Amino acid sequence: MASKAIYITHCRQPSPHPDSHNQKILVASAIQNRISFSTFCFNTLLPIRNQEGHMKYLHACFLRKRNMIIVRSFTILLLLSCIAFKLACCFSSGISSLKALPLVGHLEFEHVHPASKDFGNRYQLLALAVLHPKSVSDIASVIRHIWMMGPHSQLTVAARGRGHSLQGQAQTRHGIVIHMESLQPQKLQVHGVGGGPTPFVDVSGGELWINILHETLKYGLAPKSWTDYLHLTVGGTLSNAGISGQAFRHGPQISNVHQLEVVTGKGEILNCSERQNSDLFHGVLGGLGQFGIITRARIALEPAPTMVKWMRMLYLDFAAFARDQERLISSDDDKFDYIEGFVIINRTGLLDSWRLSFTPEDPVEASQFKSDGRNLYCLEVAKYFKLDEDGKDVMNQEVKESLSELSYISSTLFSSEVTYQEFLDRVHVSEMKLRSKGQWEVPHPWLNLLVPRSRVNEFAKGVFGNILTDTSNGPVIVYPVNKSKWDNRSSAVTPEEEEIFYLVAILTSAVPGSTGKDGVDQIVKRNQRILEFSEAAGLGLKQYLPHYTTRHEWRSHFGPKWDDFVRRKSRYDPFAMLAPGQRIFEK
Ligand code: FAD
Repeated sequence: MASKAIYITHCRQPSPHPDSHNQKILVASAIQNRISFSTFCFNTLLPIRNQEGHMKYLHACFLRKRNMIIVRSFTILLLLSCIAFKLACCFSSGISSLKALPLVGHLEFEHVHPASKDFGNRYQLLALAVLHPKSVSDIASVIRHIWMMGPHSQLTVAARGRGHSLQGQAQTRHGIVIHMESLQPQKLQVHGVGGGPTPFVDVSGGELWINILHETLKYGLAPKSWTDYLHLTVGGTLSNAGISGQAFRHGPQISNVHQLEVVTGKGEILNCSERQNSDLFHGVLGGLGQFGIITRARIALEPAPTMVKWMRMLYLDFAAFARDQERLISSDDDKFDYIEGFVIINRTGLLDSWRLSFTPEDPVEASQFKSDGRNLYCLEVAKYFKLDEDGKDVMNQEVKESLSELSYISSTLFSSEVTYQEFLDRVHVSEMKLRSKGQWEVPHPWLNLLVPRSRVNEFAKGVFGNILTDTSNGPVIVYPVNKSKWDNRSSAVTPEEEEIFYLVAILTSAVPGSTGKDGVDQIVKRNQRILEFSEAAGLGLKQYLPHYTTRHEWRSHFGPKWDDFVRRKSRYDPFAMLAPGQRIFEK
């Protein structure tokens, strides 16, 4: 076999080949033309023996380049394999050391898929493992262990409540998801039973609000502030705000917490409140899970009613609807205990479906009401009462007086009487219906906004019936809240310099696989148009349950709170290990 030997001779050494004369000429010419020595060398011809054994001459420049590329590629490959090897070692030693941690609960490495999905049904990050903690120290041990691995370990940690997030906020790629619902060993502890001045309940961070309702009702007590849907966890809603129709009076859920127990990003277990570790306390409330894992919370309670009178009435004019809502939330006397509202666009037969659970005050007139395709605005209010005859009579009289001040279309008043528990758990009824039709686990490209009161009419004009042309695939909820009931020291963000702002929740479900108007892509584009319209009009709104992709957007979302947010991050979670799914900081 012919050998393919290549001989390359250094240009300065005497060449054994008779053609060394060529090189001499080149040297002379190089000197003549003042070419640098290195340039000269690279331009030198070098002898190479070809397959037939004949000498050929290649440019040294070409050969050197080729050699350098080979050497460089080899070095890069070597480096990459070293890094990959090191990472693999760290990773596998990380995994094995995690596996060796003494825990009361356990780490699950196989069955991790359920923790890689959420209610939004659009984002999926596959976790490395799921921690099922049985004690707070399980959580602290895992976090402390990862903290000890240092900033170069890629492992992150995401607390997961019920995974009702919309864009992967409770997920982590190749990190540890903490299944917070496993953390319920202690019974809920209700304090201040029997007429104490400030009753409260101590609950786990993974507790569902529906369980808190059931337990506290046994003592005739209940939390003051809710979300519309109660199958959410305490840690999940306190990391956002927790807003519903009671927030105008009591503030969001984050305004009704006395104390928290938190595991920080360094694995410390800290109690915090207004008085103790107050910086952490305020930071964690509305803090999107960035500063610590809420393992326990002390929630304010009040005496619970037994029954609720629940009413709905319609408006054709948004301004009149909003004026009445604002009048009700600003009233000093407790006219109603719950105030919300929603928008109806391009829907027929809605009132007929209400009749199943609501009774029209005037059935004849109500049956003749026609919207003629116009947008409708439904005010929804509730009055709590105790189930005794006197209580009911007094309530009915008060309600009548309060309603007389409102300017709804008189034929469209509908009401219903339900237990307090039925009222609070109302969305669960819809959940069961949707689940039975396979319509619960569909994509949910929801958009939640906080709109300043001074711009809400402009928002309604630009969006309802224009950008948003249909509400048949999910409700659009609109109601105002009082900013004075929010604690500005918390991390939660609200529109600036407005006493009242509106929650506008556009809760559209997408039809899986559809490429039409009801498909996820079109709904996301529509949401984008709403945001662009608001931006162009300078409405000054804020996202609730925010989702951004750039640091610039987060900075502008937090506005004056950004510096504190960053400072707290570096203090309580310096390696940016916690809640990576929010995409604010990167480890
Ligand atoms: P997850 O989605 O699991 O977590 C949310 C975020 O909090 C994640 O970043 C997670 O890492 C972090 N987190 C979770 N637990 C902890 C913890 N213990 N400590 C620290 N961080 C933690 N919201 C309202 O305000 N008002 C409503 O009326 C309302 N109605 C809703 C109705 C439905 C049908 C749904 C699906 C959601 C609704 N929400 C409402 C939104 C809800 O508040 C959020 O989905 C929230 O994320 C709570 O869900 P979760 O408990 O499943 O938390």
